[in-house]
Amino acid sequence: MNKKIWLSSPHMGGGEMKYITEAFDNNWVAPLGPNVNGLEKDLENFLGHHIHVAALSSGTAAIHLSLVLLGVQAGDYVICQSLTFSASANPIMYMGAYPIFVDSEKDTWNLCPDALEEAIKFGISKGKKPKAIIAVCLYGMPYKVEDITEIAERYEIPVIEDSAEALGSSYKNQKCGTFGDLGVLSFNGNKIITTSGGGALTLKNDAFKKQAVFLSTQAKDDAPHYEHTTIGYNYQMSNICAGIGRGQMEVLDQRVAQRRANHKFYKELFKSKEFLSVHIEPSNDYFSNHWLSVAQFNPEMGISSEDLIQTFTDQNIETRPIWKPMHLQPVFRNAAYFGSTLSETLFKYGICLPSGSNLENGDRERIAEVLEKYLFKFTVNS
Ligand SMILES: *Cc1c(COP(=O)(O)O)cnc(C)c1O
Repeated sequence: MNKKIWLSSPHMGGGEMKYITEAFDNNWVAPLGPNVNGLEKDLENFLGHHIHVAALSSGTAAIHLSLVLLGVQAGDYVICQSLTFSASANPIMYMGAYPIFVDSEKDTWNLCPDALEEAIKFGISKGKKPKAIIAVCLYGMPYKVEDITEIAERYEIPVIEDSAEALGSSYKNQKCGTFGDLGVLSFNGNKIITTSGGGALTLKNDAFKKQAVFLSTQAKDDAPHYEHTTIGYNYQMSNICAGIGRGQMEVLDQRVAQRRANHKFYKELFKSKEFLSVHIEPSNDYFSNHWLSVAQFNPEMGISSEDLIQTFTDQNIETRPIWKPMHLQPVFRNAAYFGSTLSETLFKYGICLPSGSNLENGDRERIAEVLEKYLFKFTVNS
């Protein structure tokens, strides 16, 4: 059997062990320490824009803490992009709040401004203005920042920017992770850089960061004994994981360039294929890290991506469908939904292609070969 080609696997830079060894040498094997502070500083320098960063145990924890920080209560509405990974929406349920899902628009595949406004009006008509908007930068693509921010500001609803997939992306030269009132990053094993598992919350001021750190470290009040006036969480990042993150930050720009090179390869490959197209930046204002390169069959051709995914699987090449929209998930069957059918169409006709920064030329050749063969067969059959 050919060697497995992964969709997106961890890719170490070489500097990670230095930080981990340091942590062991100083016995900083704990959920805090110099690597945690160092990673937060590295991220703050990378993101710019006077952003404050709190390193956490996961991106999901960061979304959960965002909702806590925004004072979401049981029974509140929270708006969330439907086309996303379930981790964007699950924390709404942790809070006992109700998600309202919103469709995507065709340029970025992210929040549709019109459907977003409908969802807000729906909440208001029920006497409950939504408490937050979870806007996702899916597959690394920034959402329509100006449109979404304008609507959010007009209705005075805070935005949680889920940039778990978008570290290294930017819009008009401003980095993703700095647009929302709160921002979320993930360093899960499949993301553009990893800490083996981890995440971060980005915040606009130091007071907010202090509050996030307080909540993520069990909400211990200032007292000689353990005194609690607030419910806390154990959401700190470990100093060992943060050491991996510090090493990964040294190669982040390189990782972005490598993922973008994969995207360019697919764009070239599909140039002459009228029924398959790769998802591209809508204009020069958008700069995607292209965490995953994703393509879509022309829906008019009526070819779902299922068969191609199986063909790749048979060749030991991992591909995936696009995220199944949240409003189609059994767990969210009772949730409200606004928009049309774009996210459903993307799910049916889309495919996530191998996108690791560690893809080799030989891997690309194998991928191209499988694709050419599959598409040729299809042409003959039709
Ligand atoms: C990965 C991911 C998350 C969750 O991050 P974890 O670190 O895995 O908890 C949230 N939202 C999106 C869109 C993601 O892709």
